[in-house]
Amino acid sequence: MADCIFCRIISGDVPADMIHKDEMVTAFRDVNPQAPTHVLIVPNKHIASLNDLTGEDKALVGHIVQTAVQIASSEGLAERGFRVVANCGPEAGQSVDHIHFHLLGGRALGWPPG
Ligand code: AMP
Repeated sequence: MADCIFCRIISGDVPADMIHKDEMVTAFRDVNPQAPTHVLIVPNKHIASLNDLTGEDKALVGHIVQTAVQIASSEGLAERGFRVVANCGPEAGQSVDHIHFHLLGGRALGWPPG
């Protein structure tokens, strides 16, 4: 989608600090990091929200989570611990309408989140 910032990053129109790209997902560092490691893992196809996932997306979501775990390991977080979180809708604070999973780590993370 031409007006989607994450679609524009995936296509290369907008620069980002890229971590990983394959046929299904793209991962890049968050421009406003909330932890020493803050990476966004996004599907290459535009899906606005978790509410829009269908049964056909099961493999995609599994691949996103696997990619997040692999990046966590490469960032040295496997033993320390990390968080993978996806915000859905206004009360969760979703600000970009293209599904993205946050990988956060490198410091002690509070719970519950604000
Ligand atoms: P959320 O609030 O869960 O929708 O998360 C959206 C995230 O996207 C925020 O953490 C933003 O800092 C991040 N973000 C927005 N624009 C960019 C960008 N151009 N490059 C990297 N991260 C971005």
